[in-house]
Amino acid sequence: MMTQNKLTADIDPHRLARAISGYNLIGGELVGARSGNRFAVTNPATGREIGHAAQSDASDVDRAASAAARAQPAWAAMSARKRGTLLADCSRLIAEHVEELGRLVALETGKALRTESRVEASVVADALQFYGGLASELKGETVPFSPDMLTLTQREPIGVVGVIIPWNAPMMLMALKIAPALVAGNTVVVKSAEEAPLAVLRLCQILNQKLPAGVLNIVSGFGPECGAPLVTHPAVGKVTFTGSVETGRIVARTAGEKLIPVTLELGGKSPMIVMDDADIAKAVAGAVSGMRFTRQGQSCTAASRIFVHDKVHDEFVALLKARVDALKMGDPLDEATDIGTVISRTQLDKVLGYIESGRAEPHSRALECSQLPADESLRQGLFVRPVIFTGLGNASRLAREEIFGPVTCVIRFSSYEEAVAQANDSDYGLAATIWTQNLKTALDATRRLQAGFVQVNQNIVVQPGLSYGGVKQSGLGREASLEAMLDHFTHKKTVIFNMN
Ligand code: ADP
Repeated sequence: MMTQNKLTADIDPHRLARAISGYNLIGGELVGARSGNRFAVTNPATGREIGHAAQSDASDVDRAASAAARAQPAWAAMSARKRGTLLADCSRLIAEHVEELGRLVALETGKALRTESRVEASVVADALQFYGGLASELKGETVPFSPDMLTLTQREPIGVVGVIIPWNAPMMLMALKIAPALVAGNTVVVKSAEEAPLAVLRLCQILNQKLPAGVLNIVSGFGPECGAPLVTHPAVGKVTFTGSVETGRIVARTAGEKLIPVTLELGGKSPMIVMDDADIAKAVAGAVSGMRFTRQGQSCTAASRIFVHDKVHDEFVALLKARVDALKMGDPLDEATDIGTVISRTQLDKVLGYIESGRAEPHSRALECSQLPADESLRQGLFVRPVIFTGLGNASRLAREEIFGPVTCVIRFSSYEEAVAQANDSDYGLAATIWTQNLKTALDATRRLQAGFVQVNQNIVVQPGLSYGGVKQSGLGREASLEAMLDHFTHKKTVIFNMN
């Protein structure tokens, strides 16, 4: 067991990874798994081991959920403003640790420091500040039920919230869940993703300097062994999950058995429609950022189906290829690098499998972009050159299934109606964009596109303050906004005073 001292930022990610190896954070303390088991964490850019994570099971989850349950009444009894102030303090503290957190997440995920990892760490500070400021919005209403009665509603925390996160933007996705849960008076147990357990652990360790012990706990481990017991644990009254559709279904099924609420952020196959009157240069830039090429396409909202009007198709493809070619692949920790690696060998094989399958389709053309790094020390790195496919239809496997890699399909269309119909012809409905100078077309598209997050002439990522979430197989519930905090982390109690 290791007790918390005042933490100083350590920007050597290798040293930091070793220092926090093998721990969970429960009740304010770093503790190993009860079994003593650990699993290796590797750097996907070199294949080398950088540390270990605690391999937790149901007994560790029980320890964490019990600590959270013990801490919850006092946390909920604190004034909402006080909790908000603590979150704002947390935000300031994280701002002092952005560099080390950025470096650590770059080391374990392979995401480039300058374009992705450091940015992710800053978003964490932003999310904490945003939700800290919303504390006084946890308001109820008075209801004009009867003149002889005072009828009102009040927002109450749910209790202990289980947070299950993936590896693609682990710190940001965790922050967007824990910040609203905490400010609303819940306590939290996070289960980190097995591929990226270290930066989120360090983040929780930093936050625990400000938060009372037991309010924020984190355990690492594998899905069935550690994630599943978190969902079934009797103290856990709500689960918020980001991950695959298959696992989301399992989580929802268990939550259904327990009759507890669940928020699910699942996959996407987000369409981008480029009309012939669009500003092509801007649309191309939007495709590069929207497809998250700098994150190797590992994003639920990746613009992985780009419908381009016949008249501008060839110009768009040529410009897109040129822009992606200009991105530099390399060591994620190098400031000159735009694109790092994919997360794991499994993911690499999956992505390469899709590329092979796309190449084998009739009429397809695979435009491989950028260049693999020449550096000898990165020879074992999990680098995948971005691929832009043309000539594939919306019925192709590559246009239907979530690849979660740097692969996009540019699909030609000749009428707006055809583009909207194809964009909506998907199991998913997370994000969508339309690029046009015509306001009427833009407005029509925003009404008809089946997605939770629709943008015109831009393609930005989830932002604190804007409700984010999907329709269809992309999930249940919304995140990142005031409504997300109220709807998903509190319940509304009705109170009636009879004055007679
Ligand atoms: P991915 O394909 O991105 O790894 P998963 O949905 O498998 O997506 O994983 C997302 C998170 O869900 C991870 O933290 C993982 O450990 C966890 N998880 C996997 N299986 C289960 C399960 N049966 N119950 C709860 N959590 C799980």
